[in-house]
Amino acid sequence: LTSAPRPVSTPQAYSQYPQGDSQNGPPPMDHSMAQSPVSQPYSQGAMNLSGPHPSYSQQYGAPPPMQQVTNQMSGMQIGSGPPTSVGPGYAHHPSTQPPISAAYSSAAPPSYTQAPPLSAAPSQPPPPSEPAASQPYYGGPPPPQQQPFPSAHHPSQPFVSSSPYLGPPSQPQAPPVSQQQSFPPGPPAQQPFPNSAPPPVSQASYSGPQPQSQPGPPPFHSGPSPRGPVPPPSMSQQQANHLPPGPMQQQQPPQPGMQGGYPTQQNGAFGQPRGPQPGYAGPQYPGQQNYGAGPAPAPAPPAQKRLDPDSIPSPIQVIEDDRVNKSSEPFTTGVKGQAPPLVTTNFQVKDQGNASPRFIRCTAYNMPCTADMAKQHTPPQSPLVCSPPLKTLSYTPPYIVDHGEGGPIRCNRCKAYMCPYMQFIEGGRRFQCGFCSCVTEVPPHYFQHLDHTGKRVDCYDRPELSQGSYEFVATVDYCKNNKLPQPPSFIFFIDVSYNAVKSGMVNIVCQELKTLLDYLPRENPEADSVVRVGFVTYNKVLHFYNVKSSLAQPQMMVVSDVSDMFLPLLDGFLVGVNDSRMVIESLLDQIPEMFADTRETETVFGPVIQAGLEALKAADCAGKLFVFHSTLPIAEAPGKLKNREDKKLVGTDKEKSLFQPQSGFYSNLSKECVAQGCCVDLFLFPNQYVDVATLGVVPVSTGGSVYKYTYFQAETDRERFLNDLRRDVQKPMGFDAVMRVRTSTGIRATDFFGSFFMSNTTDVELAGLDCDKTVTVEFRHDDKLSEDTGALMQCAVLYTSCSGQRRLRVHNMAVNCCSQLADLYRNCETDTIINFFSKYAYRSILNTPTKTVRDTMVNQCAQILACYRKNCASPSSAGQLILPECMKLLPVYLNCVLKSDVLQPGADISLDDRAYLRQLLSCMDVSESHIFFYPRLLPLVKLDGGSLPMAVRNSEERLSKGGVYLLETGLHLFLWVGANAQQELLSNIFGTPTFSQIDPNMTSLPELDNPFSQRLREIIDSFRSQRSRYMKLMVVKQEDKAELIFKHFLCEDKSTSGGASYVDFLCHMHKEIRQLLS
Ligand SMILES: [Zn+2]
Repeated sequence: LTSAPRPVSTPQAYSQYPQGDSQNGPPPMDHSMAQSPVSQPYSQGAMNLSGPHPSYSQQYGAPPPMQQVTNQMSGMQIGSGPPTSVGPGYAHHPSTQPPISAAYSSAAPPSYTQAPPLSAAPSQPPPPSEPAASQPYYGGPPPPQQQPFPSAHHPSQPFVSSSPYLGPPSQPQAPPVSQQQSFPPGPPAQQPFPNSAPPPVSQASYSGPQPQSQPGPPPFHSGPSPRGPVPPPSMSQQQANHLPPGPMQQQQPPQPGMQGGYPTQQNGAFGQPRGPQPGYAGPQYPGQQNYGAGPAPAPAPPAQKRLDPDSIPSPIQVIEDDRVNKSSEPFTTGVKGQAPPLVTTNFQVKDQGNASPRFIRCTAYNMPCTADMAKQHTPPQSPLVCSPPLKTLSYTPPYIVDHGEGGPIRCNRCKAYMCPYMQFIEGGRRFQCGFCSCVTEVPPHYFQHLDHTGKRVDCYDRPELSQGSYEFVATVDYCKNNKLPQPPSFIFFIDVSYNAVKSGMVNIVCQELKTLLDYLPRENPEADSVVRVGFVTYNKVLHFYNVKSSLAQPQMMVVSDVSDMFLPLLDGFLVGVNDSRMVIESLLDQIPEMFADTRETETVFGPVIQAGLEALKAADCAGKLFVFHSTLPIAEAPGKLKNREDKKLVGTDKEKSLFQPQSGFYSNLSKECVAQGCCVDLFLFPNQYVDVATLGVVPVSTGGSVYKYTYFQAETDRERFLNDLRRDVQKPMGFDAVMRVRTSTGIRATDFFGSFFMSNTTDVELAGLDCDKTVTVEFRHDDKLSEDTGALMQCAVLYTSCSGQRRLRVHNMAVNCCSQLADLYRNCETDTIINFFSKYAYRSILNTPTKTVRDTMVNQCAQILACYRKNCASPSSAGQLILPECMKLLPVYLNCVLKSDVLQPGADISLDDRAYLRQLLSCMDVSESHIFFYPRLLPLVKLDGGSLPMAVRNSEERLSKGGVYLLETGLHLFLWVGANAQQELLSNIFGTPTFSQIDPNMTSLPELDNPFSQRLREIIDSFRSQRSRYMKLMVVKQEDKAELIFKHFLCEDKSTSGGASYVDFLCHMHKEIRQLLS
């Protein structure tokens, strides 16, 4: 038996995924695999290599002179402090936004028409278009009970095949495979859904000429349109959605029954130079918007109605449809080319040889076979390039595999690790690599016989032969200097300058650490953590503390020469918490007193990190520095910074310099940190500009995090800070990590996004990594791919666990390859595309003016949609906007990215906030980036039962004055209270029936004894538990000044910074697409 159960991580205080993972995968061949990894007890088997470590041999020289710490100060005072923070750092800003709701008052109500259902259509996503026979399960054998298609109509039909290896699923099980289609013409896959309203659409199309008699913009509807073009017979089963004529008018009405490709003659503007479209009644774009390169559209005729927002694709509806259709059955990863449920859907996962979507999501699950196909029809950074964000550590740990002294079995040539894509041959004596086809001998100890299908008989006993994700125990060959690693250390650096003390930060940190140190990460919940700790305080000098267990009191050593940082003590600096508990507690009690009356306002920053680095070097271990810092480091020292904040540069070509670090000092320091496995987490408590762009360099390059508490006040921000700190200290971590992505011949990983360092083009180096860090990888073609074999990716992360064990986490992923463009658009994931695009854009602003970045984004997305329209969509009026089903939300989400604070800031957002958000996004996973760009707005109506009320779209016009709404952005929570909210509702939530008596400064709701209050607080708690950062609650009363901050997140509306509304942007995209097609 070579697989052992995975130790349970401790403490499980946070649940990364609200939904359970079921990793049952293939059926166990013996009991050892039968347990769920989540509930496995810790095993002391071969896994427990490190255990508690003895302390270091301490052969260091005599300690330098020291001064005894004395209790000399009286208790500290927390003063009235700085101005009240308004949460996210947005200042109140006079609105320039006209009310919007009135504009739609006369719009026709939405009326959806359901297309005729397909006969015997299953309620499930579209099947692959290719015949099932050409889609073998790649290498990894599907287990006998596998359901290749989790169709609700075939819930209990097992996939039975005489040759489960490569045999095609028999036709009856497969959902209706559409005839081998060639596009164009021909509809994309049909996608019927069981719920009837509103209809699922496979093509969202709108616009087209509007008869002048139309009273208002007609609704978006599906199925054959009474007014729109009548679909040709081949479209009759297609649920094409036509938005009949809206404001995107053209001169001619749609041609019923139009056939024959893309009729350029349909539109008078086609083939002409770009210019105002006759009859174009699109919205006006203010000068500062300037999307793309085209001229502004002509002024709209005054009588023109605006496009009805209800008639355009709704994120809420898409999310809801996916939830209804895909949450009931587990998602099985064994079916290649199948897009998983959306990140907003709760679902279970069965690992059948591909990594769970919790670990890897792709922009597209069909890759083009050839680079030509990818290049010719799409822009270089297209969603057709697969870019899975890789969640490398999670709270649902995979199985651990130990291949013994020889280490993990690998391909001789490309070094890919053993995985379900290795094909055993010659009776099991050799295996052929799925990535490079090289044949490698099977070591004798790993030999196993094959069954009659050519599969190893122990296949289902071994996670590495049957699962998408697992871990190997790494041998000493995988360790730095061929030496098993020491357990990591945590070092706490506390700024004790005037601002840090006065804000209450120092006191809070010291009080909290006394408890928190008992919750350092560990793999065995029964044992003590092996992580050792050290403490330093600093302003413009550094104070090191000796907390050796034999001391009665901690000892302080001051290093005032910070120009060439050294470590003044070795013995007693890094200690075990239990060994030195009394001394540490005494120190943490004394620090706030010692500095309570400090007058020192200047700080250093570079020497702080240097000191931590030196300490880890001296101890020969990896570790993490927790730096609690308050000001711009202007004291004379390496890494000293100057205040370069200059708002005049915003919007100019020089703006990019503000996102770049001031000097190369911190980049160089990062390199040293990564080499040592020194990860830095930075907690900022600024009252003014601190240059996050520069201070964040080391955290971002070392796999660390930056937390920012602007205008920190103990009373109101304590909860948020402490929750962040607790989570940050406790979460499972890896250290000294290297990630390598291997691919099958034909594609390769070309670009990476995230918090890491790269010293070459292939190895992603992370001093630390945790469950909150995602790496996004871009793949490009370098050769032809085969439709038969698909494309394979293997992501391997070598790291040191928090118990000091060297491990390799492996994620495997196979996607389909296709030669038809239409297939590319069939299994895309818009949320992942947006994750990739936003990271790309946020990085581009380091070198490119933000306006250029925005224009490029619009152009790229327009090209993607134009390519679909040109090659895949059924013929229809040129005036119609036709969106692929999987990408119908691309415009609305893209608009949210474009008008985000980083790319299009309002006057009220600081440069530090923008730099902070930019860094934050770089390691977000798809779920986080989704809510970051499209927040969740919940009407608090009936809160009975366990389910949440259905969200509403992020627009002011969706708010009722009589209601109360909860808005979650991933970083903030707002409770918006309508001015006419029902008294009963207010009483239930706030304990008062009177609007005017609600205190807008409260950060938590009163604990009232009624079901509504209880349920609301439960919802808030559950939202918080799903996010990596604690969301502070802000109560916003309608028409209060703070409402502007709230409205900032209503991302379908026009923004005060000039960002377009969704409706306007969609019209603009349509224009861009038409220009590309002309
Ligand atoms: Zn190979």
